[in-house]
Amino acid sequence: MARSISYITGSQLLSLKRRPSIAVVDVRDDERSCDAHIAGSIHYASGTFSEKIPNLIQDVKGKDTLVFHCALSQVRGPSCARRFADYLAEIKEDVGIKNVLVLERGFNGWQASGRPVCRCNDIPCKGEKA
Ligand SMILES: [Zn+2]
Repeated sequence: MARSISYITGSQLLSLKRRPSIAVVDVRDDERSCDAHIAGSIHYASGTFSEKIPNLIQDVKGKDTLVFHCALSQVRGPSCARRFADYLAEIKEDVGIKNVLVLERGFNGWQASGRPVCRCNDIPCKGEKA
């Protein structure tokens, strides 16, 4: 089954983030540790993304929507989202993920629009308590 990848905007994500069934996947590489991040996002660096897809699937058990982003969501974000969607199509097993999305303009756009960011060093980030 081919899954298409859609983009969502920061304001759409902001309202979706309140749902417990959504996971934000940050695929930036080392920048994540020096820059801030979207609260509650999980980190899977694009450099090792493909080999870690099975771990990611474990991590997002119970979620139905994944939102990928990198710094700008121009290269790494969409490519990881695509690899993830292809992987799901290949395993032909329903892991419960219905939507694979990419955050438009990435983390930089998110932060530039003044949306809330988190600067913790926790792995995984526990996120803000909304
Ligand atoms: Zn954090």
